[in-house]
Amino acid sequence: MSDSAATVGAARRIYLDHGATSYPKPPEVIDAVVNAMREHGANPGRGAYRMALSATRLVFEARRSLAELMGAPDARDVFFLSGCTEGCNLMLKGLLSAGDRVVVSSMEHNAVSRPLHALGDAGVEVVVVDADRAGLVNVEAMESAVRAAPTRAVICQHASNVTGAVQPIADLADIAHENGALLLVDGAQGLGHLDVDVSTLDVDAYACSGHKGLLGPQGVGILYLRPGLDARELLQGGTGGGASEEPAQPMGRPERYEAGTPNTPGIAGAGVAARLLLAHGSEWREEEQRLFRRLKEGLLEIEGVTVFGPATDEECVPICSMVSDKLEPDRIAFMLDRTAGVAVRSGLHCAPWAHRTLGTLETGALRFGVGHGNTDADIDVALGALAEILR
Ligand code: PMP
Repeated sequence: MSDSAATVGAARRIYLDHGATSYPKPPEVIDAVVNAMREHGANPGRGAYRMALSATRLVFEARRSLAELMGAPDARDVFFLSGCTEGCNLMLKGLLSAGDRVVVSSMEHNAVSRPLHALGDAGVEVVVVDADRAGLVNVEAMESAVRAAPTRAVICQHASNVTGAVQPIADLADIAHENGALLLVDGAQGLGHLDVDVSTLDVDAYACSGHKGLLGPQGVGILYLRPGLDARELLQGGTGGGASEEPAQPMGRPERYEAGTPNTPGIAGAGVAARLLLAHGSEWREEEQRLFRRLKEGLLEIEGVTVFGPATDEECVPICSMVSDKLEPDRIAFMLDRTAGVAVRSGLHCAPWAHRTLGTLETGALRFGVGHGNTDADIDVALGALAEILR
């Protein structure tokens, strides 16, 4: 039996919900989290005694590893937050003001659409541009929306958490910059599954999760902000070190954006995860893509199943969604779990805009997310169980 098809009590467990969070985490990541709590339990950046200094070093090393993985020349432009949701809120609320106009894709997750809704109430004009039925952003349509009026920012995900479509980020960066706008990217599904190089992609901000493709623990997110880009911070508070008698939030990076005691164990795990990806990322990605193709091809062979996402030979992260003409997604997910121990997600995946784009807002869809640790057996058992349920 494979690692991910482990038994829990008497039940077989096949985890295919990597779009939500990766599982299981590599043992090195778990060890790093435990070791941070055991050996480096003091608060980083807040004392001169040895344990505080070792915690400070640990966070420093993790930041360096994440910067290297993301292609950020200066690690001080990389901030540790609670998740990608916080990163999206920070880049949107920190950079947009009443009177600004933004152009955004129709595939965005609630981590983007909800802050934009709040900003819309506060006087930001939000122009939503429809993607196609595979969830792919239309570059020409985005460009004409940007050209139609002065635009402060173009906002787009790196990859869809519903269809796996990889968006044309470098093209959008050109369009944004040629028109005096910023490009702000929700990279929740990008980091770990794609080569993310913020310098080559030429993004102004890139928010991502520590707990999905990166393979770190939950409760960690990472935001890259281009040097010199003056985003307002979401939180003010203690940052340790420096002139703590000053009433105003310090403007230096990264402390401006990291008020309060950080999630040191989570950051330690994310840092080790980044080092693992630097060492093994391309090999692991190749394997998850192979398994994903096997899954997608199998799904397409089941009668009455419609799969949403780019064609099998197009670039996508290992996520796809499907509906069946026989059973509701919720029912299929329930039966996959109960009959074969297969964990998949049904519903709207926190992305109602995306489901409106795909025409699945009423029913939602069943989402498969393949990731590190999955095996051929996982895919075959899931496909066999699904075919049986839909027979
Ligand atoms: N954006 C996308 C595209 C996502 O898939 C997710 C997670 N489902 C998020 C943002 C939010 O990420 P986090 O859980 O790290 O806050």
